[in-house]
Amino acid sequence: MQNFEQLRDLLTSPKRIVITSHANPDGDALGASLGLYHYLKKQGHRITVIMPTEMPQFLNWMKDFDKVLVYENTRMFSAQILKEAEVIFALDYNDLGRIEGMSSLVGNSNAYKVMIDHHIEPKDFCNAVLSDVTASSTCQLIYEFIEMMDGIDQLDESILNALYVGILTDTGGFRYATSARLFRIVANMLENGIDNNKLTDLVFNSYTVKSFNLLAYCISDCLELMEEYNTGIITISQADHKKYNIQRGDLEGVVNFILKIRKMRCAALITERRDIVKLSLRSKGDFSVQKICSEHFNGGGHKNASGGAIKKPFKDVIAQFKEVITQQYKEELTKELVVEL
Ligand code: 5GP
Ligand code: MN
Repeated sequence: MQNFEQLRDLLTSPKRIVITSHANPDGDALGASLGLYHYLKKQGHRITVIMPTEMPQFLNWMKDFDKVLVYENTRMFSAQILKEAEVIFALDYNDLGRIEGMSSLVGNSNAYKVMIDHHIEPKDFCNAVLSDVTASSTCQLIYEFIEMMDGIDQLDESILNALYVGILTDTGGFRYATSARLFRIVANMLENGIDNNKLTDLVFNSYTVKSFNLLAYCISDCLELMEEYNTGIITISQADHKKYNIQRGDLEGVVNFILKIRKMRCAALITERRDIVKLSLRSKGDFSVQKICSEHFNGGGHKNASGGAIKKPFKDVIAQFKEVITQQYKEELTKELVVEL
């Protein structure tokens, strides 16, 4: 970690700390933020977690979920807290653009800034940086950060539960982005009392009747399979959003279902928001949706899970996505998948 000693020295006395994570926070963003919050609170710091946009409601059972401020609903108050911060943590994002309305407040702040993240090509806006693309999740990195701080004996149920949530969500329940290093950490977490069955149930069996019906609708009415290209696209218009009262988060995870078809290698969820079209892409194996998002849709993420957003008419974005797939990735997407075990 870059400038770790400096940060450790700074944290030897109580500080006013703000923890931030990316817009449309997922399990890793929230788990890492609450995990670090519980740990630093034990060390006597004053901490506030501020997320740019609405929280993932399926995680509302997490300890101190209610204490997290949502910037878009508390602009003045959150801005004041950010102004008074001595240390700001940037968790699970590598670029100020990912915190939307909060970017200039964090960017212009004189606080000591710390990035802990696992996305590629971190931007240079922090004083101390722990960036590792080989980590499954930011939650894994928070665990390793606490280890570096000699804080393993401080780990308790609230810290571990929070970190486990992000490990579960970012690995899809240990299906991807795993490593021996992660499983060693998870073994330690289990020895320290983590209830894997309970947390897995809470995280993955979390559909509401509404979101379950929406999933059925997406698959039956909104999915187009480009079978020749082993690609599937779900498109959701503004009219759908209004008709079915779709809120941010209701479509969480829907895109992954496309990859349950054996031959599918690339999956897209394209949603028409009020003033922007959002893409959420997933892939299997070596096919990189990170490349597609960063080259064509102002976005990025990870090789197998990326997102982007673009200000163009909805139908143009759908056409552009199809054009990119058929014109630029035909060879990669149509070559035969060889499975050898
Ligand atoms: P999701 O598809 O679940 O919204 O996001 C998947 C991953 O893609 C996230 O973990 C994040 O790393 C990345 N991502 C999503 N949206 C954006 C975006 O607008 N810009 C960038 N740079 N990355 C994004
Ligand atoms: Mn993450």
